[in-house]
Amino acid sequence: MTTTIGVMTSGGDAPGMNAAVRAIVRRALDRGLKVWGIYDGYEGLVNGGNHLRPLGWDDVGGTLQKGGTFLGTARSELFRTLEGRRLAVGNLLRCGIEALIVIGGDGSLMGAHILSSEWSEHVAVIRKTHPDLFTDSDAPLLQVVGLPGSIDNDLHGTDMSIGADTALNHIVRAIDNLASTAASHQRTFVVETMGRHCGYLALAGALAGGASWVLVPEEELELRWHQKMVASIQKARELGRPHQMVIVAEGARHADGLLINSTDIRKILSERLGIDVRVTVLGHVQRGGSPTAFDRLLATRLGVAAVDLLLDEPNRLHKHMVGLVKNRVVATPLAEVVEKSQAVRQEIENGNYGKALELRGESFRYYLELVKTLTRITPAQERASEGAVAILTGGADAPGMNAAVSVAARCLLNHGVSVYGSRDGFHGLIRDEFMELDWHQLVSWVNRPASEIGTARFPFEDSHFPQIAENLGRRGIRAIIAIGGLGTYLKVRQLMEWREAYPALNIPMVIIPANIDNNLPATEFSIGSDTALNNIVDAVDKIRHTAGATRRTFIVEVMGRECGFLALMGALASGAEKAYLPETGISLADLNRDVEIMKESFAQGKRMFIYLRNEQSSVHYTTDFIRRLFEEESKEQFEVRTAILGHLQRGGIPTAFDRITASRMGAEAALTLLDAMETGDRSVSVLGLRGRGLNRVPLLEALSEMDLKRGRPREQWFMELVEVAETLAKQGPTAPSP
Ligand code: ADP
Repeated sequence: MTTTIGVMTSGGDAPGMNAAVRAIVRRALDRGLKVWGIYDGYEGLVNGGNHLRPLGWDDVGGTLQKGGTFLGTARSELFRTLEGRRLAVGNLLRCGIEALIVIGGDGSLMGAHILSSEWSEHVAVIRKTHPDLFTDSDAPLLQVVGLPGSIDNDLHGTDMSIGADTALNHIVRAIDNLASTAASHQRTFVVETMGRHCGYLALAGALAGGASWVLVPEEELELRWHQKMVASIQKARELGRPHQMVIVAEGARHADGLLINSTDIRKILSERLGIDVRVTVLGHVQRGGSPTAFDRLLATRLGVAAVDLLLDEPNRLHKHMVGLVKNRVVATPLAEVVEKSQAVRQEIENGNYGKALELRGESFRYYLELVKTLTRITPAQERASEGAVAILTGGADAPGMNAAVSVAARCLLNHGVSVYGSRDGFHGLIRDEFMELDWHQLVSWVNRPASEIGTARFPFEDSHFPQIAENLGRRGIRAIIAIGGLGTYLKVRQLMEWREAYPALNIPMVIIPANIDNNLPATEFSIGSDTALNNIVDAVDKIRHTAGATRRTFIVEVMGRECGFLALMGALASGAEKAYLPETGISLADLNRDVEIMKESFAQGKRMFIYLRNEQSSVHYTTDFIRRLFEEESKEQFEVRTAILGHLQRGGIPTAFDRITASRMGAEAALTLLDAMETGDRSVSVLGLRGRGLNRVPLLEALSEMDLKRGRPREQWFMELVEVAETLAKQGPTAPSP
C-alpha cells in the first residue's frame, strides 16, 4: 500500500499544472498519504537536496488561478543519462517515495516510463553502494502515474491535455482582435500558432476564429498549395470580404518536408496580390496566463483520479497516464501513450503525412474537413437539394448560438439549399419574418455574442400553428434547426403534436442544445455553458483579489435555474469553499455548520471564504437571508458581502470550447437534415455531446430523461464531483514532516 508520493511538473509549462498539483496534494493528504513536491522537474529529481520538499495543504492554496507551475520545470540532459536516472532513483529512495506523479508532455512521460522500467535495476545497484537506504526486508517498488500537461494537445490517451484550452482561447482572442483591425484596413493577416508536430491549436483556432486558410503539420500539401491559397484569398477580396486570416502551425511543412515560414506566406501573398499582409507570431503568449475554467477542471479531475488510481487498486503496479476521453477519466498504459504520441511525430518527420493524420484520430480529421468546408469561398452546391431550411434560436440567448447558426447555414448553403433565419425565435415562423442568410455575412458571425437572428421567450397559442404551417409551406421550408434550451425543446414538441392537423409541420427537425444553465437532456454540455462558467470564474478570481486587511465572507449568487452545474463547477474551478446547489438544497443544519467552520477558520488566520449559491438552491434561504444570518452570527469577527453576478454570466464573446461545440453541432444538424430531406425521414431529434461523442437522440426519448417538474435531467454526470469539491475546499490536514 502506497504511503508516500512525489509530484512534479516537467517539460514545457502549461496553464493548469498548478491546479493539478493542488488536486493531487490535497486528495493525497486527505487520504492519509505523505506528499513530496519535486521542484524543477527531472533536473530537481536528479539533484535532490532542497529540490525535494514535503508539501502541506496550505502550500497549494492560492495556486489554482495562477499560470505556469509553482513547482518549476526544467529540461534535464542529466536525466537522459543512466547515471542521472540512478541519482534520481537514489533521491526517491531517500524520501521513501513509492509513487511518482509526473505532469508533462510526451518527453516527460517518456522519462517517467524509462525510469519505471529501469527501477529494479537501479535499486539493485544502489543497494550495494548505499545499503543504509534499505532495511533487509525492503523491496521498494515505484508506481508511476502521468498527467497530460501540454498546450499542444499532442498526447494519445486523452481528448485534451492540460493547458490546451487556455492556449486555444488566447489564439481565438488574438484572431478576434486581429480580425477587427484587419477589417478596418482591408488587411490580410498570417497568424502563426505553436505546434511543432501537432496542428490542433491551429486547426481548432481556425475553426473557432473563422479563418480563411489553415496549414497544419499533419496534412500533406500539394506541390503548388500556395497557388490555391492565393486564388482563394484573391476571390474573397473580390467578393468584398473585409479581412483574410491565414493560420499556420509552426510545424507546417511543404510537400518536401521543409518548414513553411509565416514570412514566406506573407511574401507570396503580398507579391502575387499586391496587398498589405502582416504576420503575427503568437509565441509564448499562448503558454501564459491564468488557466481557463476547462483547464482547471480538467487538471483537478485528473489530479484526483491519479491519487485514487494508486489507492483504489493497491495490488496493481501502476504505470499509467490518466486522461479524459469523452468526458470520462481513463487510465492508459504509459508505454502506449508514449509510443502512440511519438509515432505521429515520427510519421511527420518521415514525410508520411497520411499516416500521421490517421494516427491523430477521427475528430482531428473531422475538424480539418469542417474547416475546409467553411473556408470555401462560394457555396459548392454539391447536392442541389430542393427546398429551404429554417434556423431559429429560441428562449434566452447563449454565447455560441451565432457560431451554430453560421456553421449550419454555411453547410446547408454549400449543398445548394436556401436558408432562412427565423427572426426572434419562433416569432419569425408565426409572423413570417425571416432573414435570408448569406454565406459572406455568416463568416463574421462565429465570434459574436448573443444571437444575430434574435431570440424570444413566449408561449404558443393554438392559433399560431396554422399560421406557422402556412408560412413554412409558402416558403418551401422542408426542415428546421432549433437552437435553444428546454423551452425550445418543448415548443418543438408542440409543433410535432400538430403534425397531423397541419402536414406542413410534418418535417424533420434537429434541436441543438444551447443555454448557459446546462440543464438539458441527452447532452453533457450545452452551448454557452463554458462561456458562462469562465465568466463566473473570472468574477470569483477578481473578488478574491479584493482580499484586504479584513476577514470577509462572500456569497456569490450564480445562475443555473434548478441545475447546479454552474455553481458546482464554478466553485471547483475557482477554489470557492462551497457551492449551495438546488439538487441538494440548503438546510438550517448546513448553515449552522458553515458558521462554525467560518468562525474556527477565521480564528486560525484564514482571511476569506467564498460560497457560490445557485439562484434557486432554496426558496427561503435566499442570498440575502444567508448574508444576514452569517453577519449576525459573525459577532463582528468577520464581514459578509454578496455579489449577484446576474447577466454578466450570459454575456461576452463565446469561448473557444463553445464555438467549437457549436460548429460541430451546427454541421451535424445540417448534414442530418440534408439526408432527411433526401430520404423523406421526418424524425425530430436532439443533438448532444455524451459518452462516445456527438449523438443524436429522438426528442421524445431525450425529454423522457428530464425531471420536468424540476427542469433538469434526473441523472447529471457532474454530481459525482460534489465530493471532490468538498474534499479540496475543506481545511486540510497540516503538512506531515517526513
Ligand atoms: P515535454 O514533456 O513537454 O514533451 P521534453 O520533451 O523537453 O518536454 O521532456 C522533458 C524532460 O523529460 C527532458 O528534459 C528530459 O529530462 C526528460 N526526457 C524526455 N525524453 C526522455 C528520454 N527519452 N529519456 C529520458 N528522459 C527523457
